[in-house]
Amino acid sequence: MSVVDRQKWDVVVIGAGGAGLRAAIEARERGARTAVICKSLFGKAHTVMAEGGIAAAMANVNENDNWQVHFRDTMRGGKFLNQWRMAELHAQEAPDRVWELETWGALFDRTKDGRISQRNFGGHEYPRLAHVGDRTGLELIRTLQQKIVALQQEDHKETGDYESRLKVFQECTVTRVLTVSDSGSAAGGSRVSGVFGYERESGRFLVLEAPSVVIATGGIGKSFKVTSNSWEYTGDGHALALLAGAPLLNMEFVQFHPTGMVWPPSVKGILVTESVRGDGGVLRNSEGKRFMFDYIPDVFKEKYAESEEEGDRWYEDPDHNRRPPELLPRDEVARAINAEVKAGRGSPHGGVFLDVSTRMPAEVIRRRLPSMYHQFKELADVDITAEAMEVGPTCHYVMGGIAVESDTAAARGVPGLYAAGEVAGGMHGSNRLGGNSLSDLLVFGRRAGLHAAEYAAGLTTRPDVDDSQVDIAAAEALRPFSAEGPVPSEQEGRPPENPYTLHQELQQAMNDLVGIIRREGEMEQALEKLADLRVRARRAGVEGHRQFNPGWHLALDLRNMLLVSECVARAALERTESRGGHTREDHPTMEREWRRINLLCRLADPTGGLAATDPVVGQIALTRETTDPIRPDLLALFDKEELVKYLAEEELYE
Ligand code: FAD
Repeated sequence: MSVVDRQKWDVVVIGAGGAGLRAAIEARERGARTAVICKSLFGKAHTVMAEGGIAAAMANVNENDNWQVHFRDTMRGGKFLNQWRMAELHAQEAPDRVWELETWGALFDRTKDGRISQRNFGGHEYPRLAHVGDRTGLELIRTLQQKIVALQQEDHKETGDYESRLKVFQECTVTRVLTVSDSGSAAGGSRVSGVFGYERESGRFLVLEAPSVVIATGGIGKSFKVTSNSWEYTGDGHALALLAGAPLLNMEFVQFHPTGMVWPPSVKGILVTESVRGDGGVLRNSEGKRFMFDYIPDVFKEKYAESEEEGDRWYEDPDHNRRPPELLPRDEVARAINAEVKAGRGSPHGGVFLDVSTRMPAEVIRRRLPSMYHQFKELADVDITAEAMEVGPTCHYVMGGIAVESDTAAARGVPGLYAAGEVAGGMHGSNRLGGNSLSDLLVFGRRAGLHAAEYAAGLTTRPDVDDSQVDIAAAEALRPFSAEGPVPSEQEGRPPENPYTLHQELQQAMNDLVGIIRREGEMEQALEKLADLRVRARRAGVEGHRQFNPGWHLALDLRNMLLVSECVARAALERTESRGGHTREDHPTMEREWRRINLLCRLADPTGGLAATDPVVGQIALTRETTDPIRPDLLALFDKEELVKYLAEEELYE
């Protein structure tokens, strides 16, 4: 058996983005000894890359804003498929979470009268995004890290050890959530006993024993070729939950952000923040036309300007004009750009033009959008104060995720498992509004930390880690060095597969066959390709040893990307309608009957868990589940005429 470093904690948080750090702070403040474990350097997470801001109805810039309006916008953005209780809690608690950040030292941009400034974003009725230029995530992470250090200093004073109650394990990847069979559960399931992982630099194995685990691992973008996501986002948390026995919810909903860079090829997919449009940037095609006016869907017709003049007036007088259609929710804008390019009206490098240079003076652009200014200058030699940017859709965010209880963030079916942030499903329905992720991280990160700590404290006995699970997890992690294992007979004797080649083929397939516009035949092809890749991935082999070996890391990440991609493809094939981030060319309309249906993905073969010798065999079983009816007082926040567009007949009747 390999050498494994073992430690005991009350709560282990996997992920040190906004959700993970907020969960860890809460768990520690509730008295739980808490470990945070993250794949990259501490502080390097997607949260740090967030640009535009954090959505919270603080009404600092428009006093008409309140949580009910924020709730309405979020539900509309998600096309009413949101877990409504999550959307309610999120809208109610987001302002407190922002104010709390201020008390911990965050410095947001201010209004003239000294309040936290808030900017416009797509789908938000009022200026709602608290921001720090276009580097909001950096300030959020800096503040949360500072709070963690402050707590560690308190602990040092009391115990003489900075890490006695809160410890960060950076550059460590978790490959398994460990479980024990739950004798108390009627269903005979499992509950959490800890995590297994490895240090990326040394390759040493690590077991953190804990009754509570919070998964906060962020997104899945690296399964797609064009993405704004960075290398860590291989769907690990989604896969960890599946393998531990928890279901994933509505994985077909993947957000393609309308504006990623399209040129030069080396930076294709890097995000161009929505703040550019929020601050007045307009989209034009190769004919110079502001084409978004042609793409306002019926459900939003009354809320968006019909002419350029009205749209432009809205920036000065939002109370008497309607907002420009560049600020429609992201799914609408991404589809419109896709259609323009397809119709031959795209920019030279296959995008459209996003122009802010004719809308604001150069010094204002440099002040409000400093990162965008530098990004285009340095990466594309484009001066955005003088010329238009070329932009096109990029895979950005996953709305689907671990199915959780709305109030507690507990993952369904596995006591002791919690999930928060991008990895959790439900909050954003079929499409997330910009700015709603940073607020989601804080609201549900806090709740996950709180309930994980309470659960751990409430146990009379701690679950023991099953050593045979540790052995299997270690063998699984070492397999790429021998590239052996049970393979079908026709694969025997074949040379090992290169993990980089497998990854590229996966990304290409997901981009081409399960991308922004989906068709039945192509998704079937994708599933065949995934099956082929799954078999070949069993022979993913690497040379060398465990000390920092990126090929080995990728070989392990492939298991996760393949599992998650299969969930996306299966769910997308099943949902025969178009809604939010899921667009079917063969089923182009949103069907009210589908609003009642959630799709759940589980591991089809439960022996694909740690009991099996080959976990990659796990394929996905999909089930349908009826959504909970929306509470009447929340429905009463909408006009009946609007509800008719979304709700199924029987729901309206009820
Ligand atoms: P992340 O911040 O993604 O952190 C995940 C953590 O999990 C990391 O620490 C990672 O190392 C760790 N991890 C992953 N796998 C493992 C593993 N196997 N073992 C151990 N650790 C692991 N949202 C907004 O609301 N407003 C914005 O302005 C905005 N701008 C954005 C700009 C960009 C360029 C991008 C990419 C996203 C943006 N988003 C924005 C979305 C938002 O930033 C993310 O959805 C959010 O930060 C996710 O936070 P998280 O805490 O869930 O995960």
